[in-house]
Amino acid sequence: MSAIPPIPLGTLPPQALGVRTHCPYCAFQCGILMGEDLGGGLPRITGDPNFPVNNGQLCIKGWTAATLLDHPRRVTSPQLRERGEWRDASWEEALDVVADKVLAIRTKHGANANGVFGSGALTNEKAYLLGKFARVALGTANIDYNGRFCMSSAAAASNRAFGIDRGLPFPVADIAHAEVILLVGSNSADTLPPIMQWFDKQKASGGRLIVADPRRTPTARGADLYLQLTPGTDLALANGLLYVAIEEKLTDPRYIADRTTGFDNVRGVALQYHPARVERLTGIAEPHLRQAARWLASARSAMILTGRGTEQHSKGVDSVHAWINLALALGKVGAPHSGFGTLTGQGNGQGGREHGQKADQLPGYQLIEVDAHREKVAKVWGVEPATLPRKGKSAYELLDSCGSEVRSLFVMGSNVAVASPHLSRVEQRLKALELLVVCDAFHNETSAHAHVFLPTFQWAEEDGTMTNLEGRVIRRRVVARPPLGPRGDIGILHELAARLGCGEKFAFRTSESVFNELRRATAGAPADYSGISYAKIETNDGVCWPCPAEDHPGTPRMFGDRFHHADGRAKFFPVEHRAAGEEPDAEFPLFFTTGRYKEHYNSGAQTRAVGKLQSAQPVPRLELHPRLARRHRVASGSRVVVESRRAKVEFVAEVTADIRPDTLFAPFHWGGRDAANLLTGGALDPTSRMPEFKLAAVRIAGVRA
Ligand code: SF4
Repeated sequence: MSAIPPIPLGTLPPQALGVRTHCPYCAFQCGILMGEDLGGGLPRITGDPNFPVNNGQLCIKGWTAATLLDHPRRVTSPQLRERGEWRDASWEEALDVVADKVLAIRTKHGANANGVFGSGALTNEKAYLLGKFARVALGTANIDYNGRFCMSSAAAASNRAFGIDRGLPFPVADIAHAEVILLVGSNSADTLPPIMQWFDKQKASGGRLIVADPRRTPTARGADLYLQLTPGTDLALANGLLYVAIEEKLTDPRYIADRTTGFDNVRGVALQYHPARVERLTGIAEPHLRQAARWLASARSAMILTGRGTEQHSKGVDSVHAWINLALALGKVGAPHSGFGTLTGQGNGQGGREHGQKADQLPGYQLIEVDAHREKVAKVWGVEPATLPRKGKSAYELLDSCGSEVRSLFVMGSNVAVASPHLSRVEQRLKALELLVVCDAFHNETSAHAHVFLPTFQWAEEDGTMTNLEGRVIRRRVVARPPLGPRGDIGILHELAARLGCGEKFAFRTSESVFNELRRATAGAPADYSGISYAKIETNDGVCWPCPAEDHPGTPRMFGDRFHHADGRAKFFPVEHRAAGEEPDAEFPLFFTTGRYKEHYNSGAQTRAVGKLQSAQPVPRLELHPRLARRHRVASGSRVVVESRRAKVEFVAEVTADIRPDTLFAPFHWGGRDAANLLTGGALDPTSRMPEFKLAAVRIAGVRA
C-alpha cells in the first residue's frame, strides 16, 4: 500500500480523490475510498479493496454514509433552550452558560454532581480527552459511556480470564481458516455484513459453522448446526457443552495443565450440567449438544465467537466466562486459526473502552483505583495523583442518579434516550437535570431534553484514530469541509477547560498531539499504544496493540505463548446458570428480546436521517411465531401492543417461523413511542453493570388489524 501523508486538522487534502479512510459506523471499520463528486455534490464512497479487513466490501450503511455530511437537518449553530424553545447563540455565550452552570453546581453540590456521558463512536483522541476532561477539568468521578451497554460483560470476563481484553485477539481473516466456528448471539450477516466473506471462505474450504441464537437470523440460516436456545440460557448451554467434552474425554489435558489454572473447580460445576438438564433449560436436544461439542473438540482449529445476544444479560459476565471455559478446556485459545473472541459493536467500541471513559478506568486499560496507575497517569496529565477522583457510577446508575446526586450531564456522541434500558425512567431522570448539554451534529431524542446544544464536526471532517474489532489502530482522515458553525469536540473541550481554569492542559492544536499524549499515558499499560504513531499507521494497514516501542510491529495475534496474567496462564472461572432479572410468569408469559436491522446503526440517530435507509426500514417490526400469532389473531401487518412491567409499545407485526414460539423480537433503533427499550428493564450484571437488554418478560396486550 502506498504511504499517504497526514492531513492537518480541519483542512482538506490537496487531492481529495481516493483518500483512504473508514466508515463511520460499526467496529468492522471498513476501509473506504472517498473522492470528490465532480458535479460538486457529496464525496463519493467506494470500498477500499486494499484494506485487509473488508477487502472492498461495504454494507448499505457504508455506501450511504456521506449523505449526512450536508444533511438539511444538520445543526450549525450552538443553541440554548429558552422557555422551552431552542434559540441560536454564539459559541462564546453557549460555552459561558455551560461553564457558569457547571461551576455553580460544583460549588453547591460538589464535583461529583457534574456527570459526563461518552460514546464508543468517539475517536481514541476524543475518548481519551473526555476522560481527562472529567477527571481534571471537572474533577468528577462520574463519567461513563454507552460502551457500558455494549462490550462491558465481554471485557470484564476477558480481563479476568486472560488478563487483557481485546475483542478479537487475532485478525478477522483467520476466520476463513478455522475448521469449526461456534457463533453465539451474533447476527453478523446483518450487523457486520462484510465479515461474511470470511465465513464464506471458511465454508468453501469445508469448514463448519454452528450458530446459537433464539432467532433463526440470516446468519443462523447459513449454519451447519443451528441451536435455537431459550433466551437467557447461554451459560447453561456452554456448561452443557463442557459436560459433554469432559464426559467424552474431548478436553485437552496437556493444554489445561500447561497453560491454565482453576480447571478442577470448573470441572466440578460443569459435571452438574447433564444433557437432560441442559435440554430442559435451553431447549437444545442432547444429540445436537453432543454434535456441537464433538465438532468443536475434534477440529484442528476452532473458534468460539460471542456477540451481544449472550452478553447483554444480568449474568453476561458469567455467560462469557462459560464460553471462555469451554474454549480453554478444548485447548483452542491461542492455537493457530483458533481462539475465543467477541465481535465488538460500535465504531470505536474497542478504543472507546480502553482510554478512560469508563467510570473505573484510566487510559490504556489502567484502573482508577490502583495507586500505581493513578500516579503514572497523573504525571502525564501534570496533576497530583490525590486530585484524581476515584471510581464513579456505571452508565445506567449515572443516568438513574440524574436529578438527584448528579445535577448536570455533558453528553458527547451518545443518544441515551433511545439506547438505554427502562427508557421511561431514564427520560424522567434526564428531565430532572439542572443542565443537560448535548454535543452532536443533529438533534436527537436526548437533546429533546437538553438545555444546551453544541454542534460538532462529523466523521469525515476531522482527523483521528479508531481501533477496530481486531485491536487494529487505524486513521480516520479529513475528506470533507465542515459547514460554518460546528466545531470539533477537541476544541470544545479545550474551550470549556479554559473556562474551568485549566485550559493549558487541553491546548491541543491537532488530533495527533492528543494521540501523542495518549501514547505516553498508556506506556506499559495493558492496552499499550506507546509504539504507535500516526506515521506508523500511514505505512501499515493499521497497527494492532499492544505496541510498546517505536520499533515494535504491533500484535495482530495474542496468546500464542502466554496470557497476560503474571503467571502467563489463563484462568478458568466456575459459573452457574441462574434466572434472569425478570423471567416470564403467568402475568407476563413471553420473552422479549432486541436486536438490529442491517439498515440502521444503534440508536438510529444517524441512519434514520438517511433517506435510503429509512425508507428501507421505516419502522420497527415485531417478530412473532405463527403459533403465537394464531393464538392472538395476529397477521403480518397487524398492530400489536406489547406490554412489560414498565411500559406498553405498539409495533407492526411480522409473523415468522424463524423465532421461537415463546419469544418476541423488535429492533431498538427507534425512540419515542416506538422505543423497544421502553420495555426492557434495569437489572444489571453485578460485575460489568451491563443492563439486561436481551430479556424482558412481556405479554401481548392488544391487537388491531
Ligand atoms: Fe462496514 Fe460496519 Fe460500515 Fe457496514 S457499517 S460498511 S460493516 S464499517
